[in-house]
Amino acid sequence: TEQTLVLVKPDGVARGLTGAILARIEAKGYSLVDIRLVDPDRERLEQHYAEHEGKPFYEPLLEFMMSGPSVAIRLAGNRVIEGFRSLAGTTDPTTAAPGTIRGDFGRDWGLAVQQNLVHGSDSVESANRELAIWFD
Ligand code: ATP
Repeated sequence: TEQTLVLVKPDGVARGLTGAILARIEAKGYSLVDIRLVDPDRERLEQHYAEHEGKPFYEPLLEFMMSGPSVAIRLAGNRVIEGFRSLAGTTDPTTAAPGTIRGDFGRDWGLAVQQNLVHGSDSVESANRELAIWFD
């Protein structure tokens, strides 16, 4: 079956929302294959966010992601890549639909980076690439 990388980002971990987020993932029926707490260094984040290098939010994004640990999850299930992104909701927590993780728990802090609680890979290629970065 398909696998994806899910991150509970530093804001989610710091706010004590890891359990609530995992509960939604498990209730949906996806399988936890591996899970770990990671304090990523800059190099790991540069690899993970390579596509965003040069964008205005890139440096704040790396700073935010180094502000505390994230929970990295290797998640499996039928169409889990698309399915998790649906559970997460859209990037901007203000407009993410109610019922989604970002819609229900996400706040817009008015910062340079959207602190939007979770990350999910957006394609099979991204998932393979990102899983290798976080589960080496
Ligand atoms: P989605 O693909 O659903 O938008 P994502 O997490 O994959 O979510 P990316 O576009 O890959 O989003 O951006 C990575 C992260 O960078 C976002 O989750 C968010 O934290 C931050 N980000 C993205 N776009 C912006 C933006 N315009 N302003 C501030 N932060 C942003």
